[in-house]
Amino acid sequence: MSASEKSPRAPLSPLGDDEWPVSTEVLIMGGGPVGLSCAILLAQRGIDVLLVERRDFVFRFPRAHLLNPRTMEAFHDMRVADDIYAATPTHDRWRKAVWYTTATGPGRFDGLKIGEVPAWGGGPDAERYRASSPRAFANMPQLRLDPLIHRHALAAAPGRIRSRQEVVDIVQEADAAVVSVRDLESGVVRTVRAQYVIAADGGRDSAAMLGVEMEGPRDMREVVNYHVSMDLSAWSEPDALLGHFMHPAGGARRRGTIQALGPTHYNRDAEEWLVSVAAWMVEGDPDDEAALFASIRRMLGLAEDHEITMHSMTRWSYDALVAKSFRAGRVLLAGDAAHKHPPTGGLGLNSGIQDAQNLCWKLAAVLDGQAPDALLDSYEAERRPTVAWYTAHSLENANRHPPIAEALGFTDDEAEGFRSLEVFVSDTPEGDAMRARVAAEVGHNAHDYSQLGVEAGYHYWAGALVPDGTPVPGDPSDPVTFHATSRPGHHLPHVWLAGRDGVSVHDLIAQTGLTLLTSASSAPSWTAAVEAAGGRMPITVAAVADDDAGWAAARQIEGDGALLVRPDRKVAWRSPHLPKDPAGALAAALETVLRGGDAPADDPAEPYLRRIRAAADVLVR
Ligand SMILES: Cc1cc2nc3c(=O)[nH]c(=O)nc-3n(C[C@H](O)[C@H](O)[C@H](O)COP(=O)(O)OP(=O)(O)OC[C@H]3O[C@@H](n4cnc5c(N)ncnc54)[C@H](O)[C@@H]3O)c2cc1C
Repeated sequence: MSASEKSPRAPLSPLGDDEWPVSTEVLIMGGGPVGLSCAILLAQRGIDVLLVERRDFVFRFPRAHLLNPRTMEAFHDMRVADDIYAATPTHDRWRKAVWYTTATGPGRFDGLKIGEVPAWGGGPDAERYRASSPRAFANMPQLRLDPLIHRHALAAAPGRIRSRQEVVDIVQEADAAVVSVRDLESGVVRTVRAQYVIAADGGRDSAAMLGVEMEGPRDMREVVNYHVSMDLSAWSEPDALLGHFMHPAGGARRRGTIQALGPTHYNRDAEEWLVSVAAWMVEGDPDDEAALFASIRRMLGLAEDHEITMHSMTRWSYDALVAKSFRAGRVLLAGDAAHKHPPTGGLGLNSGIQDAQNLCWKLAAVLDGQAPDALLDSYEAERRPTVAWYTAHSLENANRHPPIAEALGFTDDEAEGFRSLEVFVSDTPEGDAMRARVAAEVGHNAHDYSQLGVEAGYHYWAGALVPDGTPVPGDPSDPVTFHATSRPGHHLPHVWLAGRDGVSVHDLIAQTGLTLLTSASSAPSWTAAVEAAGGRMPITVAAVADDDAGWAAARQIEGDGALLVRPDRKVAWRSPHLPKDPAGALAAALETVLRGGDAPADDPAEPYLRRIRAAADVLVR
């Protein structure tokens, strides 16, 4: 039996441009990628949504760009993934991060390669990334991704995605949140009664409005981002999306990062680039375009008249913030509104989309009367420790860069840096030793670029799941190694199903209700158990052929056992075999899952919050 969609809802009816609802089931505050994704995920389930966005949906800045396989799974469910893959290259020519002195140039040490690591599932990582998910890593700057998601949101929730509307107040009442929305064109303030609100405002207003405290350091490092067009085809490096540059000239001030932005190539042939420099490293006034271009040319070793065209410039700061609470009454915080971290690791946008995926099926289940409101408390129990881990990890990634310059002997003393580079390129025992030290420091950045343990292995300690007492496989905070497991709270292992071309076991998981995954010969017994267990949450029984050896090796239960899987593909419960009373066992599991599980004795976020403080203490600002 294959998974079937059981939506009790009719599709959302369109809303006219001049119609304003006085009430809605879910009001979404903010139309960034997270708010728009929530709108799609809820509208697909027939939930009445209204998204209000302060801006005009003109997308100006490149911002985040890496979309890891778990995020692409969510985009697949939102029916957005195909458009992303169609618009971005899937080949391997961008899956590498490199370190150079400069890209090119006439100097003795210009264009010198310092090191490289495979990145984003490329090179030697390809096989283990492919084994973790049916969806591949993608790369699409937000400049192009956000309009694409926006287009899909407009289609999924016609008339309900409103721009130039600003949430100015939220009043919590017993049965609704009353949201005041100001029309930024007319100045008119309207109120909308929402059963729930998703605050996806990027952390701009909601925390203060709701009195939610954000834990962690702010404004740790100011970064200036320039979106430019320039020709870098003279760079000897043919296949890297991301280049880090460090050079002893100017007392090792020439450090910065460039990222290929396409639109047709994502390597040295890119037409557009994002140049990112810590504000303190900018030579001269960062707002003076001529001085700035001179500074970019020096960093990359380009000639003084090398043409550069500026598209945009933004300044932003490294924060490492985790909300103390992800829920304030009827308001749930998601994306940057709930957590903010440095871009090192590319987890900001990814974790926000994963928030949306975690939250929206739960909201739909509660609004459909299939689960009590308590299910929504599991959103914080699950996501807060995970994003605390992500925040600590991202900050630690930022700290892995300065040791490379240190291993190269770069200091404020320019002459010393040049002498050190002489050693680095020398055919001497000292040169060998230095190259080994530099290679080791570059290699530590695998934690940032080959981080499958973080990207695919995040799991939930507690929440809408039934722990089975088994230990977490491997080291739970190892960012690199991923252990596929069906342990409750972990992601359903991915296996291509035998004899079903291009169908993963992931594709059997229903987006509405829960899925009980078993083998074909046990499906009748489990179907009877589902019927006898009762309850309002629809459960699809999905079966894999008994002789599917790949699935038998991955499922970690007997053939007559079952996995209860949520729409976000997290395993909620596992029965290692068919119990004596399958209906009773299933009913007990459902009761725990739908009330959001039991709170753990200790806060699983706490160790990560400590790691954030420790990493912030040593961050070079
Ligand atoms: C300049 C910059 C560069 C970045 N670069 C990277 C990067 O290289 N890598 C990376 O991983 N991440 C990066 N990020 C972070 C990444 O862009 C975010 O993690 C991601 O956009 C979060 O999405 P979001 O939807 O939660 O928030 P946002 O994208 O910030 O969207 C929030 C939306 O809410 C709207 N809003 C705010 N207040 C209100 C209100 N009161 N009423 C209505 N609407 C409101 C805002 O206008 C905004 O459109 C960058 C962020 C910035 C600002």
